[in-house]
Amino acid sequence: RQVWKLASRPEGDISDGDLRYETEEIAPLKDGEALIQTLYLSLDPTNRIWMSDREQYMPPVELGAAMRGGIAGRVLESRNPDLAEGTIVAGLGEWATHVTAPAGTVSPMALPDGVDLAAAFGTFGGVGMTAYFGLLDIGQPKEGETLVVSAAAGGVGQIVGQIGKIKGCKVIGIAGGPEKCGWITDDLGFDHAIDYKAEDVGEALDRLAPEGIDIDFENVGGPIMAAVLERMKTFGRIPLCGLISQYNETGQTQGGAPAFWETMLMRRLTVRGFIVTDFAPRFAEGAAALGGWMAEGRLKTRQDVRKDLAKADEHVKLLYSGGNFGKLLVEVSEP
Ligand code: NDP
Repeated sequence: RQVWKLASRPEGDISDGDLRYETEEIAPLKDGEALIQTLYLSLDPTNRIWMSDREQYMPPVELGAAMRGGIAGRVLESRNPDLAEGTIVAGLGEWATHVTAPAGTVSPMALPDGVDLAAAFGTFGGVGMTAYFGLLDIGQPKEGETLVVSAAAGGVGQIVGQIGKIKGCKVIGIAGGPEKCGWITDDLGFDHAIDYKAEDVGEALDRLAPEGIDIDFENVGGPIMAAVLERMKTFGRIPLCGLISQYNETGQTQGGAPAFWETMLMRRLTVRGFIVTDFAPRFAEGAAALGGWMAEGRLKTRQDVRKDLAKADEHVKLLYSGGNFGKLLVEVSEP
């Protein structure tokens, strides 16, 4: 198989040589394992966190080990009675053409009518569940409330904004560039978009949401988060989903921001960090709801599918420059 291994822990941005592309033999399967041919690899902002040894929610990828990643694929061979040959599965795997999956790491994937594998993987996989549970459980949106979402044209953000509209919120998305901003308003129905690369986010929020913000679905951190936080209403909620602007930073991040805490106290905000796997026992509920909205034409998702696993080390960098438009996937083998 061909596989990407972690050769060194990146300092700052991912550099050439931090990841190494290798060819290796596939070991015979042990009981409980299945051999998966990877069809799609999900590239996610958290990949950069797994490459580091900072505090995180899973063990870091070890140096010399295969790079961890979400996959969708087909069972080629199986010693797991739950995974018959030919089954389409999704779960946690590796950046590789073939993955030997221990029991419990991948599960069969249902494809709703008319939804292809890339769209299903990009919608009902990690990002859809993140948007659904983060917004509904933690954000608690109510009709007429104002919701702001950052990285709004990305995998998670596009779904958050659309669920916000379904729940009757006024939705403002923050994204980089006119194309992304036009798409979230014109195609996805967000009420407003703020191009943070072209305008001052605070001024735009004052103009577009003079009433204040009830929910900040936070994907980015840094100055964008600071501008939103200043404009939160009393008893607002912040599902703290990600801080992508910080992932390539070395040294102390976010530390010296006591003003954030004072705002949280004075406005009595609820801020809850979460990891999508916290909601794993309820994923079927999330998939059913998202699938229902999709079938009704109320939820659309965009995938940014790149070819060639051998270029995954370049593709992943798109996430940190904003070069991806929609959920970033690599087509490893034609489905
Ligand atoms: P996206 O598809 O949204 O891709 C990342 C986007 O972030 C880029 O396209 C870019 O969009 C934006 N971005 C990158 N750097 C910056 C920056 N410095 N300032 C502002 N925007 C930036 O990725 P995902 O949807 O997969 O992830 C979005 C967030 O959600 C991430 O923070 C991720 O870690 C988090 N996440 C958390 C999960 C959890 O369980 N808690 C699960 C999944 C994701 P633009 O062009 O608009 O700048």
